[in-house]
Amino acid sequence: MADATTVLEVKDLKKHFPVRKGLLRRAVGQVHAVDGISFSIREGETLGLVGESGCGKSTAGRTVLRLIEPTSGQVTMTGRDITHLSKKELRPYRRQMQIVFQDPFSSLNPRMTAGDIVGEPLLVHGVARGKAQREQVAALFERVGLRPAQMASFPHQFSGGQRQRIGIARALALGPKLIVGDEPVSALDVSIQAQVINLLQDLQRERKLSYLFISHNLAVVEHISHRIAVMYLGRIVEYADTRSIFIRPQHPYTEALLSAVPVPDPTIKREKRLLEGDVPSPVNPPTGCHFHTRCPYAVARCKVESPPLREIAPGHHVSCHLR
Ligand code: SF4
Repeated sequence: MADATTVLEVKDLKKHFPVRKGLLRRAVGQVHAVDGISFSIREGETLGLVGESGCGKSTAGRTVLRLIEPTSGQVTMTGRDITHLSKKELRPYRRQMQIVFQDPFSSLNPRMTAGDIVGEPLLVHGVARGKAQREQVAALFERVGLRPAQMASFPHQFSGGQRQRIGIARALALGPKLIVGDEPVSALDVSIQAQVINLLQDLQRERKLSYLFISHNLAVVEHISHRIAVMYLGRIVEYADTRSIFIRPQHPYTEALLSAVPVPDPTIKREKRLLEGDVPSPVNPPTGCHFHTRCPYAVARCKVESPPLREIAPGHHVSCHLR
C-alpha cells in the first residue's frame, strides 16, 4: 500500500471509548467509534472520508493526528511510526500534520487578534518571532485572500468564510505536509464553500499538500477528493478512486448515500434508495455486517459474519458478502 510518495499510512486503527455508569463510574461497555480502519494518502492527494454523522469519521481524523490516543493500530507519517511516540518525539511530526475545524468561530480564540492566532504556531515551535513572525503572518494572510491590515482584527469582526481562511492560514503556518479538514466547509454558505474549496485546491497544487477531507456531504467530497473512503459505524465499507465510487458504487450504503446527491446532468437518472432509520448506536453495534439492520439486500449470513474489506477491482475495496 505504501510507496515513496505515501505521506500518511493508517493500519487497523481503533478507538474505543469506555461507557461509564453509576456512582463509581464503572465501565459498562465501549463505544466502538473507530473499529479497525486502514488507508493511505500520497503526497498531493486528497482522501475524502464520508459517512453520516456519528459514523466515527471525526474521531478517526483526530486519532490519526494523535489529538486522541488510539486504542490500537498504527499511524505512519512520512515513513515513521508515530503511534507510540512521546509528546517530545511527536513534536516535529506535529508541524507536519495540521487540522482545520468545522466551526471557525469556536475554534478561534475570541480574545486573540487574527494575526496572533495565525502567528502562534510560529512562536510555539520557535520558528519566527517579532518582525520575521509578522512578515510571515502577513504573507499567509495574503495567500489565503485576507488583507494584512486585518491582522489586528478579532475573530468576531470577520465573516464565516474569512474566519475559515484564518483557520487555513494557521494550519499552513508551519509548512505542513498533511492537513485534516474536519467538515471544513459545512458551516459555510454554498457560494463561500466553493471559494474555500478552490483555495484548498490551489494550495494543494502549490505546496503538494495532502488532505484528509472529512465530510458528510458526498457532493463536496466529490469535488475535492482523488479517492474516497466511505465509513459506517466505525468501519470503512468502501474505498476507491472518486470516479469509481460515483460511477460504480459497490456497497449498498454508498449507493444509498449517492442516491441523495443531486445529479447536474438531467439525462442521468439515479434510483432513489432512501436509508431507513438512524445509524445504530456504536455502543452495541449490530453483529456481523454493521449495516445489516438497514440494508435492503441483507441475507442471513450478514447478521453473523462481518464481511472483510476486499479488493474487487484494482484499487477498489468493498466490505460486503454479496460483492
Ligand atoms: Fe448488506 Fe449483507 Fe452486504 Fe452488509 S454484507 S452490505 S448487510 S448485503
